[in-house]
Amino acid sequence: MVGYFLSRRMTSKQGVDFLIYALLLLLSLCGTWQGGTAKAQGARSDSNNFIVFADSKELASDVSHMAEVYRKELALKWLGHELPQWRMRCPIFVKEGPTLGAGGATSFTFSYDGYSEPGDWHMEIQGSSKRILDSVLPHEVLHTVFATHFRQKLPRWADEGACTSIEDLSERTKHHKLLLRNLTSNKGIGLRRMFKMYEYPKDMLPLYAQGYSLVKFLVHQKGEQEFIRFVEEGLENEEWESALCRRYEVDNLADFQVKWLAWIKNGGLKIAPDTEIVWGQTTTTKKKLALVRPIYKKKKSLITTQKQGIQ
Ligand SMILES: [Zn+2]
Repeated sequence: MVGYFLSRRMTSKQGVDFLIYALLLLLSLCGTWQGGTAKAQGARSDSNNFIVFADSKELASDVSHMAEVYRKELALKWLGHELPQWRMRCPIFVKEGPTLGAGGATSFTFSYDGYSEPGDWHMEIQGSSKRILDSVLPHEVLHTVFATHFRQKLPRWADEGACTSIEDLSERTKHHKLLLRNLTSNKGIGLRRMFKMYEYPKDMLPLYAQGYSLVKFLVHQKGEQEFIRFVEEGLENEEWESALCRRYEVDNLADFQVKWLAWIKNGGLKIAPDTEIVWGQTTTTKKKLALVRPIYKKKKSLITTQKQGIQ
């Protein structure tokens, strides 16, 4: 039933939190966690696309409201249009604690045909209420937006890099610092290998940090929607280098790497207060809904995405 789920060796407190959480997710996928959580947590808040379970009514309500805001605004920003309402709502299980490490996991299934929207959504998020709302929730919701748009697995660097890029400044700063440490200690991941990684590596954090930086570099040049077109083109035939050359005017992968590293060196990813993301600013009701495709019942694969924290 479970497509895959990797537990990992971690030493930080955050890692321990995440590992415990991963085990809970595994139970949830076996069907024993979902009901228990809802009952134990008591408070529930429903929106058009989400059903949120949390310890307090206030938090459940905040999460369901913001989940809809993120779903709308992220789709507009990255895809250029809103998404139609899902046929199946996504349950979100919230575990809040002031000292709890920030983390999350979202699973869903794709259909065999690759045309119908994903289903069997399941999202678990944890952390302080602030971190949940400003980082974990938008990160996980963007995974669902991408799943709805692409309807297939994405290379992990692109998926996690993009989802990390919309987290709170404090979280992005941690990834940037980790990237700088990795690049100066030979722990960077080779781009050719990374572009084709569809599974999480054993050590996930370097992938998140590097993916975040690469996505920012690409988005900095041509925006979010061109990045989406690049990923679409790369997915068509797995010719990522060719797609990169066409979309971003580089000679080859080596040329791209030189430019990316120079951008970092010149402070391209400089973290500044004005890079804070402001949410809830869209007022447009102009809708350009994605094509609703036929419904097929067979399921192809279960995908699990994760938000990995750093402390
Ligand atoms: Zn993620």
